[in-house]
Amino acid sequence: MGTAKSAALFKKAETLIPGGVNSPVRAFKSVGAKPLFFKRAKGSKIYDVDGNAYIDYIGSWGPMALGHSDPKVVAAIKKMVDKGTSFGASSELEVELAEMVVDAFKTIDMVRFVNSGTEATMSAIRLARAFTKRDKIIKFEGCYHGHADSLLVKAGSGAATLGVPSSPGVPADVAKGTYNATYNDLASVKKILDKDGKKVACVIVEGLPGNMGVVKPKAGFLEGLRVLTKQHKVLLIMDEVMSGFRLCYGGAQDFYNIKPDLTCLGKVIGGGLPVGAFGGKAKIMEMLAPNGPVYQAGTLSGNPLAMTAGIETLKGLKKKGVYEKLTATTEKLCAGIEEIAKEQEIPVQVHREGGMFTVFFSEKKIKKFKDVTNCDMDRFAKYFQKMLSGGIFLPPSQYEANFVSLSHSDADIKKTLQVVEKVFKSL
Ligand SMILES: *Cc1c(COP(=O)(O)O)cnc(C)c1O
Repeated sequence: MGTAKSAALFKKAETLIPGGVNSPVRAFKSVGAKPLFFKRAKGSKIYDVDGNAYIDYIGSWGPMALGHSDPKVVAAIKKMVDKGTSFGASSELEVELAEMVVDAFKTIDMVRFVNSGTEATMSAIRLARAFTKRDKIIKFEGCYHGHADSLLVKAGSGAATLGVPSSPGVPADVAKGTYNATYNDLASVKKILDKDGKKVACVIVEGLPGNMGVVKPKAGFLEGLRVLTKQHKVLLIMDEVMSGFRLCYGGAQDFYNIKPDLTCLGKVIGGGLPVGAFGGKAKIMEMLAPNGPVYQAGTLSGNPLAMTAGIETLKGLKKKGVYEKLTATTEKLCAGIEEIAKEQEIPVQVHREGGMFTVFFSEKKIKKFKDVTNCDMDRFAKYFQKMLSGGIFLPPSQYEANFVSLSHSDADIKKTLQVVEKVFKSL
């Protein structure tokens, strides 16, 4: 049907919005394509302004675990809209969603709602610094925790170098407070802690890394991290903005049986509306204002529409068999892709867990960020563009997770695999 309307909108958007987009990865730049503009989404499908339909494996980057425009979520939001969109004061809905989060996560006694994952990690780190009275933090190369200054840092050379900013505008002094370690490499963390452990407030790690593509923790890695952080009295922050209510209801920490001190949430708990949250042990959380001295606030935090979308989404995900279904759908798709790749002799590594997966174009196993950087990016770009032409909407980067929802049917998987087969033949 063509994409003329999208092209015209993008041309205009570029004059009004930097790069024509409000979040960089939407620009499709790394795959040499122009972004599409969408007007509607329902279930597993998303529809662009030119009238093309796509099977969607982005799912708004994770939140749409039930599928787009879930009837119950939509009905609840509509009902709430009639009563008001923001009170700037407390509502029962905040208490209800907080109770659901505390019930879902054994390590969360108390939770504070914010408006994005970025706010959640930024606030959790401030709290960890205040609690430990230490300033430095450790993150892992390839793990993304939103765009706060101290988190926009990657390693210079070697695993244990002090951070250099990965964006202009991040003060060098701020970046110096961030150590980068290598994911799945405990020794890289130990080295930093042995040297400077008394100055480190926290280690922050993605529950299941999805922001370098899905890279699973090696056996013993997360357990070892928990032991090391305890030894050095360093807080462990598990960033479950992506993995929370996605990998299983209780997130990666339940899935892998790890007990972090603080947890960050986002994406799914907003059911498509802007919500983030961070929570943990009461004695840490009680340090937040107004009870304690650590300042953190938000005009729209806990607003009734976002809380409503979150509550209804979690209700949908709490039903029996939900995560089994998500896992089974993902497995069916991934096994199919592996089979086609083998037939066509295209080297791929297909990683999946729960409702998340990534197809890495690589002959070698993927264990850490550096392995991802060695993938065949040209082949990925071709794959992305041809899948899109075939009606399959994938994340436009090798460094991303794909998301399956409860609305993805057997017919969707069958259609997707038919397109994969055609596309792989031409790669
Ligand atoms: C998406 C994401 C964030 C940032 O959340 P925003 O809502 O985009 O600010 C932080 N951490 C992880 C693990 C994420 O996947």
